[in-house]
Amino acid sequence: MIDPFGRPISYLRVSVTDRCDLRCVYCMTEDMTFLPKKDLLSLEELDRVCGAFVSLGVRKLRITGGEPLVRRDVLSLFESLARHLKSGALEELTLTTNGTQLEKYAESLRAAGVRRVNVSLDSLDPERFRAITRWGNHAQVMAGVKAAKAAGLKVKINCVAMRGVNEEEIDDLVAWCGHEGFDLVLIETMPMGDIDGDRTSQYLPLSLVRARLARRWTLDPIPDVTGGPARYTRCAETGGRVGFITPMTHNFCESCNRVRLTCTGTLYMCLGQEDAADLRAPLRASEGDELLLAAIREAIGRKPKGHDFVIDRRHNRPAIGRTMSVTGG
Ligand code: SAM
Ligand code: SF4
Repeated sequence: MIDPFGRPISYLRVSVTDRCDLRCVYCMTEDMTFLPKKDLLSLEELDRVCGAFVSLGVRKLRITGGEPLVRRDVLSLFESLARHLKSGALEELTLTTNGTQLEKYAESLRAAGVRRVNVSLDSLDPERFRAITRWGNHAQVMAGVKAAKAAGLKVKINCVAMRGVNEEEIDDLVAWCGHEGFDLVLIETMPMGDIDGDRTSQYLPLSLVRARLARRWTLDPIPDVTGGPARYTRCAETGGRVGFITPMTHNFCESCNRVRLTCTGTLYMCLGQEDAADLRAPLRASEGDELLLAAIREAIGRKPKGHDFVIDRRHNRPAIGRTMSVTGG
């Protein structure tokens, strides 16, 4: 699949649920309303859509959410998708998780062919972690991270950098990740969905974070190997990789190779645009995949050139109405 701007589309991110057991302040309101369960694609339907994308050339699948590991029986989806790894059609099957259920699932995920996990962790301090996630248990996530490492999964820690919240801790996260052998990816807050707080006050440009980190660490840029939005550096002191995702200050759209499927079967061709394609209707219209494949091809033909993220300081309105938990980031 090649989009109108010549970019090959080889990466599908699939949000398997919009539900979550946490309520991170930058992601959701505390009294978030979730979709009725009847609107969700079944795991079998998600599997079928993923299969269609793989047949069209997708080489990398990431399962996300909401919190993917709170969807009932989600392991069966991983186990079923593993057939594409075995056939060689798929290079990688991964997930992004908040880590709360990882202790339970790490071994089975590894057995299903998962080799890497991204775990979101914005603080190493239990109280601050609770404040950011509203009701998260830090020890539970740390146990999950430990289980992932013990199971032989490569761990990447995702951390959203927030002004006045965790900015003083980023040094410690670099040290901890270096010590544990984890990659660290720092993310700027993106203006998506209604949240209870004020986004402009949370926004912390990573250019500033990087300048501060440079006082303690030597961060040498390394060539981009992922094709993704993170710009990586190697920390000379720890040997670990530290990445920066800066949607607000750096345009990474030229190399975009991905599209995103929601748990209701809506395909978003860009994280930062509203245009989407419904795949649920063609999926359910027939048992064969012809209509589904045609709908996917048509959607890729509409992939936009890039996003228009901007934090509207005057109105404090999100640039994109849906929250990240719809598309999984
Ligand atoms: N629940 C899982 C987790 O937290 O890893 C997967 C879904 S979560 C939406 C995926 C990633 O998006 C997390 O790393 C989270 O920190 C990030 N995220 C959520 N809302 C965001 C926002 N408004 N700006 C930047 N990153 C955000
Ligand atoms: Fe849940 Fe992930 Fe959103 Fe936090 S960032 S509320 S863990 S979906």
